[in-house]
Amino acid sequence: MLRLLMIITGLLLSTAAKSAVILQYHHVSDDTPASTSISPDLFAQHMAYVEELGYQVVPLSELVANLRNGEAIPDDVVAITFDDGYSDNMAAIKAEIVPRGWPFTIFVPPLLIDQRIRGYMSWNELNELKTLGGELSNHSWEHNHLAAKLPGESDEAWLARFREDLLKAEARIEAMTGESHRILAYPYGEFSPEMLEVLAEEGFAAVGQQSGAVGALSDLGHLPRFPFGGPYGTVEDFHTKVRTLAMPVESVVLTSADETLVSHILDYGSPWPQAHITLQDDSGIRVTGINCFASGLGAQTVVAEGENSFSVVADGALQKGRSRYNCTAGSNQRHRFYWFSVPVVQLDQDGNWVD
Ligand SMILES: [Zn+2]
Repeated sequence: MLRLLMIITGLLLSTAAKSAVILQYHHVSDDTPASTSISPDLFAQHMAYVEELGYQVVPLSELVANLRNGEAIPDDVVAITFDDGYSDNMAAIKAEIVPRGWPFTIFVPPLLIDQRIRGYMSWNELNELKTLGGELSNHSWEHNHLAAKLPGESDEAWLARFREDLLKAEARIEAMTGESHRILAYPYGEFSPEMLEVLAEEGFAAVGQQSGAVGALSDLGHLPRFPFGGPYGTVEDFHTKVRTLAMPVESVVLTSADETLVSHILDYGSPWPQAHITLQDDSGIRVTGINCFASGLGAQTVVAEGENSFSVVADGALQKGRSRYNCTAGSNQRHRFYWFSVPVVQLDQDGNWVD
């Protein structure tokens, strides 16, 4: 019995230490909106750095399969993803990824591909990228705010609509490319707890846009990715993020005025919730050494709640739209930080999502 316990503990320790980082890009171009673009030159520097580090680039489907099957993920692993299927991705992929023989994933909203909208790739181009090592995956049918209910819509009707959208998109991608990985990238990174149940029932994993590294404890319903574009993705920023380690977080509970919240999606005018985060036992991370930052407000006071738990509540107003807490901690590896992010959303006055 004791021996078994020791083996189990050893297993937990070894899986907790493994980390993968999922990179998220939109445009790779000098001529597209800055907030969702990085320049081809900067993209080349990102890829050169991944090569220099000697990290293994794996298909996202392989990383998800490891997590689904409860297998240990290899250490120092990177997956490269592009959202939306923009035409400018083609040149960047051919210049920087294909020559290195790396896999990559493109998340597409099939309706926008079907409509041949200017600036998006065609199915032919996507199929060409497939032959060059690309995986094609689900970015919803038409890139809507999936977590938003229509006016007067019941929860049941909304979730049925989400399920239909998810499966219709998956079927269309499979029909046009033969690909079906059952991995969704949430448009705008938006999800709600109810949607996670639908995804699990349909056997889907999903990636968000909350930053952080992926580890054995990551939730398959909202895997973190590091988005690059606008201010994010400078050489220095990339060097830090690509080397991050998964903070072994066992649970996150959000509260407001000591009431537990059922969702991270909050009504207009809500204050920042308090996030209570519990780490895995024996994580080796001292909670007194954790730093947390709130969107737009900078560093916040972190309160130790126990040997493995801490909380943070931002000192300032919560803005409309998407915000997050980013928490980091030093590791025993030089220049490598544990990173974990908690998304928070505030709806606008009319209960709508903000772009
Ligand atoms: Zn998108």
